[in-house]
Amino acid sequence: MLIRDKHECEKCEKEFEWYYQVPQLWGTGLTADFLPQDKSAASALGRSIEKNGYKIPLQVSARCTKCDHLNNFDIKQKEV
Ligand SMILES: [Zn+2]
Repeated sequence: MLIRDKHECEKCEKEFEWYYQVPQLWGTGLTADFLPQDKSAASALGRSIEKNGYKIPLQVSARCTKCDHLNNFDIKQKEV
């Protein structure tokens, strides 16, 4: 499962697209998600919640695709 969203970079104030590949809590996790090459791969920070068998981070960090600045931000849970 992929979370995909846009985030406005806190440095250059441009919007970039990011994604986060959510690890499965159980099961073999053989789902092959398509990983978007042109988007920023986010990493989980700090706490996460469990939802529908997935471990979903509350906060991620993602590198801006425009200026390479590392942004830390909360995930909007409506996306999940
Ligand atoms: Zn930027």
